[in-house]
Amino acid sequence: MLPPPDRAALLLDMDGTLLDIAPTPDSVVVAPSLLASLTALRTRLGGALAVISGRPVEQVDALLTAIPTAVSGEHGGALRPAPNAAIERPDLPTAPAAWLGVAERLVAGHRGALLERKARGFVVHYRLAPHAGLTIRAALAPLLVGRTDFVLMAAHMAWEIRPNGADKASAVRAVMARPPFAGRLPIFIGDDLTDRDAIAAAEKLGGVGLFVPDVFGDAAGVRGWLAGAATGDGWALRRAPERHR
Ligand SMILES: [Mg+2]
Repeated sequence: MLPPPDRAALLLDMDGTLLDIAPTPDSVVVAPSLLASLTALRTRLGGALAVISGRPVEQVDALLTAIPTAVSGEHGGALRPAPNAAIERPDLPTAPAAWLGVAERLVAGHRGALLERKARGFVVHYRLAPHAGLTIRAALAPLLVGRTDFVLMAAHMAWEIRPNGADKASAVRAVMARPPFAGRLPIFIGDDLTDRDAIAAAEKLGGVGLFVPDVFGDAAGVRGWLAGAATGDGWALRRAPERHR
């Protein structure tokens, strides 16, 4: 059962949840109907609509035309807590420049591989070089040996090196501490391994965490639910969420 809209906050992952995964991060498509659903839902939820993504906040805001009241980016590494507010960043380390050099050489050596720089870390995408995935991982993993301040994380056809200390669970807690989210019950929706942290965090706060493959099938299924929920007819879920704790 979902908490009713007047008591709920909706916290959404973006890629693979709102948007179909595309060959490269830049080639995702945002349908006008999705933006219309999100705008209507923001009103229905008294503003309590947030996106929690691994992407930089600026990219989320550009793609979703700044509709979400709050955006957490970089797996909890950055937060725009309110419309037009400055981006806040928890104190976290930045990946050494030498690691970026390793990543640049890897990308140069594997046709189709793509380097995405983030404020404190980076992502090596291999969606267009699928055969190179394990080789790239094997080249990145030694960088982290003996270090607890960074983690190497699997994403959709990508490896990400990011600082330890922030994740999507801390992002859920940070968003839920602010108005208009505070006092409401979170409904978090995500599709990826890293979203399991956020699902657990939402449940711990008395809310609900929904794993896209289990509950909606895919991002099109999520968009269909959002469209119904935005009009007021379709708030209930067709399939019951599984508990992940
Ligand atoms: Mg995702």
